Amino acid sequence: MQVPLLDLKAQYKNIKDEINSSLTEVVEHQRFILGPDVEDLEKRIASYSRTKFAIGVASGSDALLLSLRALEVGYGDKVITSPFTFFATGGTIHNVRAKILFVDIKPDTFNINPERLLGCIEKSHKQINGKLKAIIPIHLFGQMADMDPIVDVAKKYEIKIIEDAAQSIGAEYNGYKAGSVGDLGCFSFYPSKNLGGYGDGGMIVTNDESLANKVRMLRTHGEKSKYIHSFVGYNSRLDALQAVVLRVKLKYLDEWSKKRSENAQYYNKRFIEEKLAFKGDDEENSGCPLILPFAVKKRKHIYHQYAIRVKRGLRDALQNFLRDNEIGTAVYYPLPLHLQECFQYLGYKRGDFPVAEKISEEILSLPVYPELTHKMQDYVVDKIKEFFKKES
Ligand SMILES: *Cc1c(COP(=O)(O)O)cnc(C)c1O
Repeated sequence: MQVPLLDLKAQYKNIKDEINSSLTEVVEHQRFILGPDVEDLEKRIASYSRTKFAIGVASGSDALLLSLRALEVGYGDKVITSPFTFFATGGTIHNVRAKILFVDIKPDTFNINPERLLGCIEKSHKQINGKLKAIIPIHLFGQMADMDPIVDVAKKYEIKIIEDAAQSIGAEYNGYKAGSVGDLGCFSFYPSKNLGGYGDGGMIVTNDESLANKVRMLRTHGEKSKYIHSFVGYNSRLDALQAVVLRVKLKYLDEWSKKRSENAQYYNKRFIEEKLAFKGDDEENSGCPLILPFAVKKRKHIYHQYAIRVKRGLRDALQNFLRDNEIGTAVYYPLPLHLQECFQYLGYKRGDFPVAEKISEEILSLPVYPELTHKMQDYVVDKIKEFFKKES
């Protein structure tokens, strides 16, 4: 049996007619950049996210970049984020020439640790140089970060919040949708995301009209009216071909997220039955080789990734074994941002963020996509069981 990490061809097969006819319409009307299809998708995403405004941009990375620019974050400013994320979160802070302050994650959700956040902010406030302007919590793997304490400290210290919701469109926290809690929320439509286009794409959501207007200008070179520029922006727009693909897929998004979540529950059940994982306190010392992903109550997890932790330093060996058995897996992320060569100038070193460092050595994503069958999952579980039998 072959079990890929993700099967976008299987998804396309189920929606082929709708997708093809939508693409044909755009090709017929020939309005490729922005236009009515993009506006329509923006309205739908705003309503889906329960925000007032949505602005389509060229990618999730650009959504972060334009959000930082809209908040006027630049040289000399500081921005807090987590070191355990896709590169773009840190890269965009660097690209606006602000200084990155990292805060470690929680070992259960892999999201930024609010208690550490407070410490970092207080330390930063004692320093004279640089104004702490924003925090970018990442809703990693499809589960929102613990937003209540983040919002509290952000208010107290007058720091803006940009949610990196690239992996979490449709996730919820106490009834709030991902992207709707902070000042701005950023989505990515990279093809492998839960709502993926047929190329790059992204969107910013916000309830703040002046920020929405600013982002709209930033995506077309800061243009106020035709060829009149208030400030320097970018060429960063969503195109109509992406918008119509995304409009078709948006209808199915909740159904797909539900399937992902059911698949996650099925893995959990099987791993516990097979004594490969343990449910309860102190999973770390349970004697079982795996730690299952943790879904916090009252947070709707959309399982962009089903990421297990593999103990005893066996992650890479397990990944190789699964690859030999034609099971696709991935490591998100093998090297935390503070240890990346390009960020050495920030002065962080190994040991500074022990949780992120440990998780990066243990984490392994298994296939969880909606079209996955229980039979395929059983095969994955059986192979993992076989691996640990051989190892013990
Ligand atoms: C995918 C992703 C991005 C960037 O999105 P692109 O559309 O690939 O530019 C940013 N942050 C996180 C956490 C992501 O997963």
